Amino acid sequence: MGEEKEVTIVDGALATELEAAGLNLQGDQLWSARALQTNPQAIKNVHASNTVPRLCDRGKPLIAGSIGPYGAFLNDASEYSGNYVENMTKEELKAWHRPQLQSLITAGVDLIAMETVPSQKEGEALVELLREFPNSKAWLSFSVKDEQCISHGEKFNDAVKFAITSDQLVAVGLNCCPPDLVSPLLSTANKNRRPKGGWIVYPNSGETWNPNTRWENKPIDNQLARFAVEWKELGAKWIGGCCRTTPADIAELRDTLKANLSQQ
Ligand SMILES: [Zn+2]
Repeated sequence: MGEEKEVTIVDGALATELEAAGLNLQGDQLWSARALQTNPQAIKNVHASNTVPRLCDRGKPLIAGSIGPYGAFLNDASEYSGNYVENMTKEELKAWHRPQLQSLITAGVDLIAMETVPSQKEGEALVELLREFPNSKAWLSFSVKDEQCISHGEKFNDAVKFAITSDQLVAVGLNCCPPDLVSPLLSTANKNRRPKGGWIVYPNSGETWNPNTRWENKPIDNQLARFAVEWKELGAKWIGGCCRTTPADIAELRDTLKANLSQQ
């Protein structure tokens, strides 16, 4: 089992588990972050009971501090379009993200998860900002809308180019999308240089979001486990789940990759 074949498992959805524990997050402007104010113990419990025991195969888990897109703050779903970047400079985006990045680094996280980023411009702003903290590492993960493009419309394989050579990024990739978009996006991007640390992929469960009825059309099989080996062969070194993925999904993902490694 060579080091280069190993995959780091990224955990699943926090909010899904908080809701399963009885917290009401729907319609809350802060969504799962509300629990930091009102019920921090619930967040500790989710990590202690689900995440940590499953991720501890090789000792201590890594703690990633999450930086989401600026649009989530606007509370108008614009984090899914990224359209706000047309009216913002990179410096304005950096100024917005700087205090949160600073506080996560001060709190002692192992790395920063710059995630669900809808546009290349915000991705560039985040990577530029990271240079102000030269001892810190991060991954950069875009939200995507189809088999070619990130949410704001740039081609994924173009959007990642500036990030490929960053020494501070442990991985570059995508999250929060239907699982079946991942392989086409990686295949196209692999025609260019791959990121130094490899790709990171953590799509949603495969359920679809309906604003009226919420999540629906749950796939019968675990989509993470179904595609994991394929993603690994396309160069994914970090694999996990985003919205609606559960600790059970992550455990099955881990077992699938372990079984695949032991066959090699
Ligand atoms: Zn998500």
